[in-house]
Amino acid sequence: MHVGEIMQADCANGVGIRLSLFVSGCTNRCKGCFNEQTWDFNYGNLWTPELEQFFIDTLAKPFYDGMTILGGEPFEPENQPEVAGLINRVRRELPEKNIWIYTGFVYDRDLVPGGRKYTDYTDQILDQTDILIDGPFVLEEKDIRLKFRGSRNQRILDMKQTRKSGQIVLSPLNK
Ligand code: SF4
Repeated sequence: MHVGEIMQADCANGVGIRLSLFVSGCTNRCKGCFNEQTWDFNYGNLWTPELEQFFIDTLAKPFYDGMTILGGEPFEPENQPEVAGLINRVRRELPEKNIWIYTGFVYDRDLVPGGRKYTDYTDQILDQTDILIDGPFVLEEKDIRLKFRGSRNQRILDMKQTRKSGQIVLSPLNK
């Protein structure tokens, strides 16, 4: 996996102060994408054990509420093994930090068994995610008043409740 940026003290991509990881590679190709350079799977730096350790050490600082993974596309099958590895470590070593992920795929269509982006790693990632913001960016539904989302079709999902109940549960942030 390659990563374009590690954004420190990010306050835009989730509640509170976040450490955000922009992974590279995206096949969604949304019209009006804010981050086209990240479509390239080789954009940025290789995600190495040293970079992962830097990420963990930084996230451990007490002022961080949690981490956000965005891109690019964290759920491209090429990226899922490393994303799962990072999330497993954060849950094990920093259990007090919350985990948000952005995806251009649709959870209950693409990321469930039989879905086009479902892999052996997908459930591991989703089971440990607190908030998933899903759906492609749709230029015609763009609304700059939305918090944490670019277009009205995107959903802020409470993943803990969604996984527990087996039904889509929207976060109260979804207004
Ligand atoms: S999913 Fe995100 S990164 Fe990918 S094309 Fe759409 S807006 Fe751009």
